[in-house]
Amino acid sequence: MKLLFATTNKGKLKEVRKVFSETSFTIVSLEDYPSVPEIVEDGQTFAENAKIKAKIVYDLFHIPTLADDSGLSVDQLNGEPGVFSARYAGENATDELNNKLLIEKLSHFPEPHLAKFICSAVFYDGENFILAEDIMKGKIINEPRGVNGFGYDPFFTAEGYSVTNGELSLEEKNKISHRAKAFNRLHEMIREKYQL
Ligand code: IMP
Repeated sequence: MKLLFATTNKGKLKEVRKVFSETSFTIVSLEDYPSVPEIVEDGQTFAENAKIKAKIVYDLFHIPTLADDSGLSVDQLNGEPGVFSARYAGENATDELNNKLLIEKLSHFPEPHLAKFICSAVFYDGENFILAEDIMKGKIINEPRGVNGFGYDPFFTAEGYSVTNGELSLEEKNKISHRAKAFNRLHEMIREKYQL
């Protein structure tokens, strides 16, 4: 069964392809369907934004669609950057600029900077939405380490880990990440629905 993952984020695509590997699903992405206009993610929650993305992309191509919305929530910043994680430092912000702003804001607070990643993963087939959500708890450190992953990964150490997400391999991150856990559950729910 072909599923269209509504993302152009290579980091997310790698992680989700891994979750659906060794199954009867083939994951294609918006790299294969580049003619999608920019999607305005104006939902108040990760789940709302994931549904917005899934519906717009399904309505364009009529292929069962996966979408996620995810981000970082930092306790000392009252949940920031939250749904603004990708554009924390502005509309066209890079990971580097977002990280810089985060560390600057946290410099006014004592350590530990407790935080969590949140992921809402959605499947939409034109009729029903299926939603799965999960989190990864940890903390933000002041100096980046590692080159793996994406986004805030070099500054995040998961609970029980001394290395950052940026130092974890894809396999290691996928054992604990918000996205892998949410998509694993979503995967099971899709299999149940279609009796695969
Ligand atoms: P989205 O594409 O709107 O879901 O934006 C998610 C943003 O949240 C990304 O651009 C990253 O900045 C951040 N983010 C979400 N998941 C992760 C992760 O697993 N590692 C690091 N950053 C993440």
